[in-house]
Amino acid sequence: MRAAFGAVVCLGLAACASVEVAPAPASKDAAGSVAYGLVKSLTTEVGPRLAGTKAEAAARDWAVRTLKGLKFSRVTVEPFAFDAWERGAASARIVGPGQAQELAVVALGRSVSTPARGITAPVAFVASFDDLLAAPPNAYAGKIVFINDRMVRAKDGAGYGPAVRKRGKGAVEAAKRGALAVVIRSVGTDHDRLPHTGQMRYEKGVRKIPAAAVSAPDADQIERLHDMGLTVRLHLTLRARDVPKAPSGNVVADIVGREKPEEIVLLGAHLDSWDLGTGAIDDAAGVGIVVAAALRAAGSDLAPKRTIRVVLFGAEEVGVVGGEAFAKAHAGEAKSYAAAMEADFGTGAVWHFRTKVAENDLAFFDAIGRALAPLGIERGANDSTGGADVEPLAKLGVPIVSLGQDGTHYFDLHHTANDTFDKIDPVALEQCVEAYARAVRMIANR
Ligand SMILES: [Zn+2]
Repeated sequence: MRAAFGAVVCLGLAACASVEVAPAPASKDAAGSVAYGLVKSLTTEVGPRLAGTKAEAAARDWAVRTLKGLKFSRVTVEPFAFDAWERGAASARIVGPGQAQELAVVALGRSVSTPARGITAPVAFVASFDDLLAAPPNAYAGKIVFINDRMVRAKDGAGYGPAVRKRGKGAVEAAKRGALAVVIRSVGTDHDRLPHTGQMRYEKGVRKIPAAAVSAPDADQIERLHDMGLTVRLHLTLRARDVPKAPSGNVVADIVGREKPEEIVLLGAHLDSWDLGTGAIDDAAGVGIVVAAALRAAGSDLAPKRTIRVVLFGAEEVGVVGGEAFAKAHAGEAKSYAAAMEADFGTGAVWHFRTKVAENDLAFFDAIGRALAPLGIERGANDSTGGADVEPLAKLGVPIVSLGQDGTHYFDLHHTANDTFDKIDPVALEQCVEAYARAVRMIANR
């Protein structure tokens, strides 16, 4: 898959040729290889880094050490606490004569446990989340609701929004209709036998029921049995625990501007990851991209006109806790941000450039668009809301720059045990670094 993806990047866009003519890294430790080295280091030396755990704290230590080593001038941790969650064992199997088999299953983030003996119940097969919403109260009393929506593959990841609704709200809506538990077809585009985790939510006043995801082939099996008119019985066991008031934090690092140090260009990525893989595409890749791009944009003397700030957010996966905490802590200085951008979409090449800036500033940002065009990047509309971590800043009126990456294959790996360093495409990663660096350099030196 990696080779094929590399080929798509090279054949499908002008990116490859442009990468080759872009200024070559001056030495082995120049920015391009900095990004790849950072992804390798974070995923190998820290590994999985679930928010609120000792592993996430180790990632903050890694970030502080690494950013100081790369000569960022101010490196600080802004701590916060939140109610975290730890995964325990999960198992699921189809029970019954002739059908019995183990399923590849994971708990969704925040899910409560089942009773120790597990839950055994017939499955209520629900074709889509909209069908669940349309069902009357008590429609699924005593059942395990199975929601079967498939996610649609798309370059811009547009299939994620509709598909992820069942993950976020499936448990609440199933519980309102009497269900004992909810199991979903994984939110993903692969056909590996690997389930995708991700955060779910409960609602005050609605009974908390266990929530899990099975892999696509297992979902297919349940679907076929249902289509044959058979009653499927599932046995589900989840062990999870809440961890109240767990520590997390954002790591903030500046390259201080030489002329207008109080004006800031912000580059963000998130440091935490899900715990099944090593969080390589989500979001060690973003960490590598923004750190390397900040250094490249600052130039060899690390003296941009304005301050370039890298923020490595904590606790993003579990509800954008770090992004909200940062915006709250820095609300008073919102006017001093020249722009904010983030990288949180793997290592697909950047192909799309959107903004959300003042109308009278569009000419300048259109010029950035022209500087990005040789990398195979199209100018999009001035309607961006930013990524998850910078959206709270966008709401404060901070100008937003969004570099849209090719997400065609992103959701094959997203939140699975398969999100590991070997999936990182160094050629596409380098194109991302160059795209971010060009945009940041122009804003910082405007
Ligand atoms: Zn992410």
